[in-house]
Amino acid sequence: MFVVLRKGCTPEERNNVVRAVEAAGLSVHMSEGHHRIVISVLGDEDRLRDVALDSFAGVENVLPLRRPYRLAARESRSGDTVVRVGNHSIGGGQLTIIAGPCAVESEDLMLAAAKAARDAGAHMLRGGAFKPRTSPYNFQGLGESGLLMLRNCSQEVGLPIVTEAMDTRHVDLVARFADMIQIGTRNMQNFPLLEAAAETGKPILLKRGRAATVTEWLCAAEYILNAGNGRVVLCERGLVSYDSAVRNHLDLSCVPLVRQLSHLPILVDPSHGTGRRSLVPAMARAAVAAGAHGIMLEMHPNPEHALSDAGQALHLDELEAVISDAQAIHTLLQKSQVPVS
Ligand code: PEP
Ligand code: MN
Repeated sequence: MFVVLRKGCTPEERNNVVRAVEAAGLSVHMSEGHHRIVISVLGDEDRLRDVALDSFAGVENVLPLRRPYRLAARESRSGDTVVRVGNHSIGGGQLTIIAGPCAVESEDLMLAAAKAARDAGAHMLRGGAFKPRTSPYNFQGLGESGLLMLRNCSQEVGLPIVTEAMDTRHVDLVARFADMIQIGTRNMQNFPLLEAAAETGKPILLKRGRAATVTEWLCAAEYILNAGNGRVVLCERGLVSYDSAVRNHLDLSCVPLVRQLSHLPILVDPSHGTGRRSLVPAMARAAVAAGAHGIMLEMHPNPEHALSDAGQALHLDELEAVISDAQAIHTLLQKSQVPVS
């Protein structure tokens, strides 16, 4: 449940609420906004059955929660979360563009992609050094040397990087090089990995599981938040479907829904979401129109020869038009009188 305190309530009144909750064996998480304080109550709420929190002095409202996540719920905060990555902010007013190859393949290719990303207006670079591949015989990524290449390119072009950690054994290594840690679709419910990534204190890009419900996804975010790391960004990347016409089925209806349910920023990855280069520009535009806080795009200097996800990578010279369309739609949307969520 959430206990919403009255504007101007005294510290004494606030402490009385916290003490009552803690005395019942539960814990609290406090969110102080400009207009009000919200106390999220964490633990077995049954134990508060006989505590009339709504009649405590200073309490405006007690909101029951019928959802299995709390800290990720919109009600737990008084505004939207903005996640700072390097000098860039994800969420809030601006549209975030992340671009780069599926995998780091060599320093030369990565640098060519990084320069094109910067020149086209991207804010962050991407590239996997640890690649989750369906077949063990496919390119698995360069590991630590890939991370080093990524870091060098990031310094060269001045953009922060996001890259995937697949395994608790590699989380600290990835955290040493990355500005943001990606949790991939296959690991969305790898709870020890979520907690280990959270403990690095780095911002986390949490992709939606390929067959995960929105509730399961927000519960996965809850693991990170509950481990004390509030810097979570969600990323929709398509769901498995019965229709093999596209690689994945990009669920854009989840964008306004997640914005209603949660205060966390949400990005969309139309590259994995379609699996086809020719479909990426349209779905990137649609994602922004649906209210995404940003898009993540795969691109490659020579897509036909990419070692992974060749069919969905944009050519470097296609990137600029996709980004400028996305920015134009975002600007238009900001003038709209109709709220996104
Ligand atoms: C990726 O971003 O390269 C990736 C593997 O994504 P996903 O986990 O969404 O498949
Ligand atoms: Mn990929």
